[in-house]
Amino acid sequence: MTFRLFNTLSGQLDELAPADGAELRMYACGPTVYDYGHIGNFRTFLQVDVLRRFLHLRGIKVRHVMNITDVDDKIIRNAAAAGLSIGEYTPRFEQAFLDDLDSLRVERPEILSKATEHIPQMVTLIERLAAVDAAYKTEDGSWYFRLAAFPEYGKLSKKDLEGITDGARVDVDEYEKDSARDFALWKASKPGETSWETAIGTGRPGWHLECSAMAMKYLGESFDLHAGGEDLMFPHHENEIAQSESVTHKPLARHWMHVRFLLVDGRKMSKSENNFYTLRDLLLKGYKASAIRLALISVPYRHQLNFTFEGLTEATNAIDRLRTFVARLNQANLAEGTTEALQAAAHKAETDYLAALGNDLNTAEARAPIFDMVRTVNSVLDRLATDAGSIRAGDRASVLAVLDKFDAVFAVIADHDAAPTKAALDWAEEQGLLEKVAPELLVRQGLSDEEIDGLIAERNVARKQRNFRRSDEIRDELAAKGVIIEDSKDGVRWKRK
Ligand code: AMP
Ligand code: ZN
Repeated sequence: MTFRLFNTLSGQLDELAPADGAELRMYACGPTVYDYGHIGNFRTFLQVDVLRRFLHLRGIKVRHVMNITDVDDKIIRNAAAAGLSIGEYTPRFEQAFLDDLDSLRVERPEILSKATEHIPQMVTLIERLAAVDAAYKTEDGSWYFRLAAFPEYGKLSKKDLEGITDGARVDVDEYEKDSARDFALWKASKPGETSWETAIGTGRPGWHLECSAMAMKYLGESFDLHAGGEDLMFPHHENEIAQSESVTHKPLARHWMHVRFLLVDGRKMSKSENNFYTLRDLLLKGYKASAIRLALISVPYRHQLNFTFEGLTEATNAIDRLRTFVARLNQANLAEGTTEALQAAAHKAETDYLAALGNDLNTAEARAPIFDMVRTVNSVLDRLATDAGSIRAGDRASVLAVLDKFDAVFAVIADHDAAPTKAALDWAEEQGLLEKVAPELLVRQGLSDEEIDGLIAERNVARKQRNFRRSDEIRDELAAKGVIIEDSKDGVRWKRK
């Protein structure tokens, strides 16, 4: 069965397969490391992860490149405010980004490339653009792309752009409206700003230039797929196309994938709306990374996703159901052989699941047959005592194999959830966020299971010695740390509040 994915460039579903038949070469725009990533950013990175995991499941090798933007206006501004150089400022946020990807089980791209490590490639690209008169230098020493040199400008976003006025320029990375303007390739250095001395002058690269230069370095002049959030379609991706295709006369990428923006409670996520969440915010509230992953991928990438806490709770329950089911199935005592009904159920679930993903990565439709299968098998397990032959060991293997294929893409059943580390809690304290942290996490931080068992053992000894003062003291200490103990005739049981 073919895999069809919507292609922004052609405006239709196109088959996605490696042009060279061997390896799918893809580029996905990465983060600007000036702050912690928010869950909107992670919706995009997660959907690209779903794509790459599905390609792997289909047996396709992937060469995936992601840039790390470690120089831009915001980085320069924030670093200056912190009294640091950009080289001192960005590593912390780059590491935080990678840690967040790990928590969310986003597979690392084959190549992560930093802008500041590719200045020579960018300078060469400007020189090539200048040679065909598509780049020009201004009086202050900056370089601009000449839009009039690229008549196809706008072919990706299909925006009705205002007429191109030769020489009308923008020197910021953000366009204020849908107007076509010559854009900065290289910014002349301003006093005190980070800059590089190069053959085209002293300055720093523009954001759009980075992606063109690095994509072509690692993937060649023309590759299979380019991805990013929907906001990047214009102007960023139009500009990448213009910069690359003006010198290569080949399509930069054949296929373009854009992920729809995440909304929060129906509104745009923003710090001023107070609905702005980073991954760490949610982990510290006690939500599991697996639930955040499932909530962010369960709505197909071209549909609007409205993030809510009810959605997170739904995802948490769905994962519990799957994990409980796997444990139950593994423990069931089954006779050898298979049954026709469950073989058919497993086969249908797998077929429908793969077909839904192959149809423009429809994750919502892909989930449904898996949960249907779980429901069917659960009800058979309920009857096991009275109807022993209704599920057999071969059925178990088939059902688990389907769940493995589900988890190869969804990656939520295998439990990699970790409680926030001491470092994360220290960080929250340092940021003044401790009051946002879920109380049970703070308590858990206070006493480990072993420590609780140790205190209870000590209390048992105290009671045997009729040292009730000590035994009450221990009970109070445990209570203060959120641990309740119950004395029963089988001994002492405890639970966390
Ligand atoms: P940035 O670090 O701002 O360059 O963004 C990194 C990636 O996240 C880009 O692909 C953006 O398009 C994407 N992105 C930013 N905000 C959102 C959002 N609210 N929903 C989905 N993707 C987003
Ligand atoms: Zn980019």
